[in-house]
Amino acid sequence: MEFHTSEALINSAYIIAAVLFILSLRGLSSQETARRGNLYGILGMAIAIGATLASNSGILHAVTIDGVEHRVAVGKFHYLVFGAIGGGAVIGAIMAARVGMTQMPELVALLHSFVGLAAVLVGYSLDLHALPPLSERIEIFIDVWIGAITLTGSILAFLKLRGSVSGKPLLLPMRHAINVALVIGSIIAAYVYCKDGTQYGLQFGTAIACVLGIHLVVAIGGADMPVVVSMLNSYSGWTAAAAGFMLNNDLLIITGALVGSSGAILSYIMCKAMNRSIWNVIFGGFGAAPPPTAKKAQQPAGEVQDIDAAALAEKLSEAKSVIIVPGYGMAVGRAQHAVRELTEVLRARGVNVRFAIHPVAGRLPGHMNVLLAEANVPYDIVLEMDEINADFPHTDVAMVIGANDIVNPAAEDDPTSPIAGMPVLQVWKSKLVIVNKRSRAAGYAGIDNPLFYKPVTRMLFGDAKDAVEKVVAALKAS
Ligand code: NDP
Repeated sequence: MEFHTSEALINSAYIIAAVLFILSLRGLSSQETARRGNLYGILGMAIAIGATLASNSGILHAVTIDGVEHRVAVGKFHYLVFGAIGGGAVIGAIMAARVGMTQMPELVALLHSFVGLAAVLVGYSLDLHALPPLSERIEIFIDVWIGAITLTGSILAFLKLRGSVSGKPLLLPMRHAINVALVIGSIIAAYVYCKDGTQYGLQFGTAIACVLGIHLVVAIGGADMPVVVSMLNSYSGWTAAAAGFMLNNDLLIITGALVGSSGAILSYIMCKAMNRSIWNVIFGGFGAAPPPTAKKAQQPAGEVQDIDAAALAEKLSEAKSVIIVPGYGMAVGRAQHAVRELTEVLRARGVNVRFAIHPVAGRLPGHMNVLLAEANVPYDIVLEMDEINADFPHTDVAMVIGANDIVNPAAEDDPTSPIAGMPVLQVWKSKLVIVNKRSRAAGYAGIDNPLFYKPVTRMLFGDAKDAVEKVVAALKAS
């Protein structure tokens, strides 16, 4: 099947797709508009794929119609391409349907490795035909180099997040010198390849980039891995942008730049919320102490006071204002629906119930927002840390559901704490704090939480879903 498409039509389609991608990112920035944002993204991608297939990667020909010369793209539908897209779509749909919320970071890491692999393959395929001109050789080298770093870095990040490889940072002696040597080696390889197209230069550069990708990620501790995934997201965007230059595809350049910069901004926001230095994450401990996970988890110490569901229901019946602080444990226990029910019961009794969301609660940005939205918790009672932190002193009950590090007062009180300086939700300023978790075990940072031992705190031990359901039942019975 052969068809002709005008250059103007393809460019218009690319512009529409680019605008849809920008609208998509904007939509995804708030819960109310996230669904629409996703739809814009899907539509933009469908248009982009359609236009790319129609243009057959921009092969333009001059065609004279009625004495007027038109630039048209002549493309052939390659059934192999449709087979690959169809197969990929089916595998992607199955993976997306199966993945649990807590496994999202590892899936995202794996997907980034595909972007890196694609960039390497596209670069090599362009180099196969004839000797590309100098400018193209530079583009090919950059694309392949970033692609190879993204590929191996993402695979290692995936394995670390899965637990197949230890999450502990491996800090080789003279690691910064190794990084510098690898970069110098890359520059030499780039020179060799770009000067006269010597293939060894490209191959050597790829090998160095593969080692660099592993070396950068191996030095990063488990607690920083989600930030690394976000950084790799950024790298994959820049890889795509480099591929866009190589293929003369404007849309790929725009999309790559959008992904690259949004990934970098997200990494910066996450680092700020965890009080980590972005350079420390990128260079794996550059000039700083090893990440918190490198420390041995301390054993909790001191006495705690616990509370049962019936007693808590009584306290909640007397409360006028309640703030719920969800954390990773709510995701593990799949307790969001029980929490929504608790919210409904309390609101029906006239209690002012709100949610306080820490920027790094859970294991990926927006983790809690997604779970609460899934359970149909109204958006207007779900507030960000900055919006609600000052309200704890006027709150009767702060209910911490499966959260730990994000409510740890040591971040403010103990300058020696690995999380010192990290902004936290000041739940301990409420009149009563309930902490629900299964034990006194430490959270992700592996450190003790003095909140458990404060006089104002009562521990509601048990699985989050089970515990909250019991409280709801006790409230209904009262
Ligand atoms: P934490 O990992 O600090 O604590 C979660 C707590 O949930 C655990 O202490 C655990 O205690 C409890 N828990 C686990 N399963 C259940 C269950 N079924 N029912 C009840 N409780 C349960 O989580 P936070 O959300 O407080 O903090 C997030 C951490 O992740 C921070 O350290 C943050 O820096 C880090 N992080 C987050 C990122 C993000 O983007 N969101 C990115 C990078 C890191 P127990 O075993 O006793 O039940």
